[in-house]
Amino acid sequence: MTILNDTRPGGSLALVVDDDPSLRLYMGVSLKKAGFEVLEADGGETALALFAAHRPDLVLLDVVMPDMDGFDTCKALRKLPGGRYVQVLMVTGLDDSESIERAFDAGANDFVSKPINWTVLGHKGRYLLRAGRAFRELDRSRSRLAKTQELARLGNWQIDLLKGEFSCSSKTCRLLGITSQRPETIDDFLQSVIAGQRDTVKAEIDRAVQHHQDISLNYPVILDDGTQKHILNQAEVLFNEHGSPELLLGVVQDVTQLKRAEEEIRLLAFYDSLTGLANRALFLDRLEKTIAGAQRNQQKFAMLFLDLDQFKLINDTLGHHIGDLLLKKVAARLKRNIRSTDTAAILGTRMSDSVVARLGGDEFTVLLTDIEKPEAVAKVAARLIRELSDIYPIDGHELSMTTSIGISIFPEDGEDPAALFKNADSAMYHAKNSGRNRYQFYKESLNRAALERFSIERDLKRALATDEMVLFYQPQIELASRRIVGAEALIRWVHPNKGMIPPDRFIAIAEESGQIIDINRWVVQTACRQMQQWRTAGLAPIRIAVNLSGYRLSSQDIIQTIKDALGSVAAENQVLEIEITENVLMQDTKETIGTLQGIKDLKLRIALDDFGTGYSSLRYLTTFPVDTIKIDRSFVMGCTTEPKNLVIIRAIIAMGHSLGKRIVAEGIETEEQYALMKELGCDEGQGYLFKHPVPADTFAELLVNAVL
Ligand code: C2E
Ligand code: MG
Ligand code: MG
Repeated sequence: MTILNDTRPGGSLALVVDDDPSLRLYMGVSLKKAGFEVLEADGGETALALFAAHRPDLVLLDVVMPDMDGFDTCKALRKLPGGRYVQVLMVTGLDDSESIERAFDAGANDFVSKPINWTVLGHKGRYLLRAGRAFRELDRSRSRLAKTQELARLGNWQIDLLKGEFSCSSKTCRLLGITSQRPETIDDFLQSVIAGQRDTVKAEIDRAVQHHQDISLNYPVILDDGTQKHILNQAEVLFNEHGSPELLLGVVQDVTQLKRAEEEIRLLAFYDSLTGLANRALFLDRLEKTIAGAQRNQQKFAMLFLDLDQFKLINDTLGHHIGDLLLKKVAARLKRNIRSTDTAAILGTRMSDSVVARLGGDEFTVLLTDIEKPEAVAKVAARLIRELSDIYPIDGHELSMTTSIGISIFPEDGEDPAALFKNADSAMYHAKNSGRNRYQFYKESLNRAALERFSIERDLKRALATDEMVLFYQPQIELASRRIVGAEALIRWVHPNKGMIPPDRFIAIAEESGQIIDINRWVVQTACRQMQQWRTAGLAPIRIAVNLSGYRLSSQDIIQTIKDALGSVAAENQVLEIEITENVLMQDTKETIGTLQGIKDLKLRIALDDFGTGYSSLRYLTTFPVDTIKIDRSFVMGCTTEPKNLVIIRAIIAMGHSLGKRIVAEGIETEEQYALMKELGCDEGQGYLFKHPVPADTFAELLVNAVL
């Protein structure tokens, strides 16, 4: 920073430069009278040396000197350190305008002409000094302002309201990333504003110009290098002394970091960090607002409660990392589907108000506002189910995922958040109980169904301990001979109050609650014990198939359970067959292969149940050690009437046989179906045509004859 000599003790210092000693003397005297200390130089060179050594505040400079004239001395002086601010008074004998002009060009602050008025000279000196100080102050505060603006990431711009001219500082250009020439119009100035907002910003500034209003705008700009910044642009109208508007003075500020911090806080508070969806707090807030709006406008809206089917299974078997990745993918798809315009078209409504949130775990919610009728919501729900149910390739695994959705409608299913939540939730449970991968509206009757679900879960705990479970056996028939070659063990729950409960009503619940582990163990043990009993009773050894639910199959220590259950039953008889469904294979983990291999090592057979209903691919059949393929009942059911079913059955049999698998047809109910299956080359079958599942005693009687 320039050191100023304002505080020099004993007053200000003046340097008098003239080749005429008598003039130097007079000048010195008159300056001393005015309070200056005085130095003298007889020519330009000496003057420069003295200036460098003493830094005087005022220089009186004669124009005509022999060695170096006053103009050159003044120019040189200005270049010396401290030379910029010194006041130079040129003493000229030539009272013509040309030399006065030259004096100013050389950098003089003022001039006096000879003959000199000695009384006035001192005052002039003092006056010049004061003006110089004011000038220095102004310059200093300007550079301070520039520095401050730099630090505050500020730039300024202005519009002269009288001439309509625009100008801005270089810092402004840097801030706005304008690297080409300095903007000369508002349009140039706004060139870096992102396209979508440029017109709005321009309109605001135009309005401020026309109506003499202050403005405060906040918008993003894109710099030439592609980075994005956030700009706060504030402007005020300045009025002249007559009160008429003169200037629109604006300041632009880079508030990117502030904006980012704000955004982060907002994200933390209202968004789920894993998926980026709204969190529970934001969802509740929106729900409350939607309720208020819907009440005011007498509108309906829907709340969808989504729960991924058997997500726990994936989390438990593959770990949270994989689970998280899956949640992210599902969330992205969910968002995409809700926001897409064709969903809006389906609904015939503005979807921009819809909210997608993750409540936690694998639970998601969606608000569909301003719906006309529930059917429209059903379409969206069906579409979500379709779009979300898929195979997700994650980290080398191919994970299949389906979703169940419960729906509550405002106002009939509830008029406050709690009721809407509760009812959408119970509808969702109903969807799960009816087989998952579906949507369900809330109705009063569904509440009862949900209640039953809880009572089943509660009663299941007791059922195994108190022998309420039994196994029924359904014969498996060799189609060619109609001989019984095996049995499928099917569980039944004889509930003390509710009577016989079929597996479809409790297996899914047991899977979700984890009670399936005990059930699997019980089934394997009971089937093996039964096998042993029949053998002791002298019946021919028969193959029994048991259904093992896929839930955490690999972590159930199922191999040890089977080993224990088999006990003394000779393994070489290969009497036990394990039925698994396709979704077990689709977990696609090393452990699953390990578990299946473990079963094979025990010389047991493995059957793939309900084949064709999942997302099986040929790869599964070649990768996993499967012996038997069971064609799902749904294909067999219409095989004589639906040509499509026939095509599928043919393909399964051909493919299965070529891979060396045994093919079993499930659910044969009529002689026609039987005849057709036999003709198609299917090996075995089971179904009501031959026999319903029966208790063990009845089955033993069937075995005596062995042909059905
Ligand atoms: P699944 O393994 O596919 O068993 C065949 C189902 O089809 C049985 O129903 C059986 O009664 C039924 N069925 C057999 N023949 C016919 C027919 O001709 N027509 C019709 N309409 N149905 C027929 P169930 O016993 O109600 O079992 C349903 C499902 O529950 C089973 O399907 C199986 O996935 C599961 N399940 C049954 N027992 C167990 C078990 O002990 N453990 C496990 N984890 N799941 C079991
Ligand atoms: Mg089965
Ligand atoms: Mg089946």
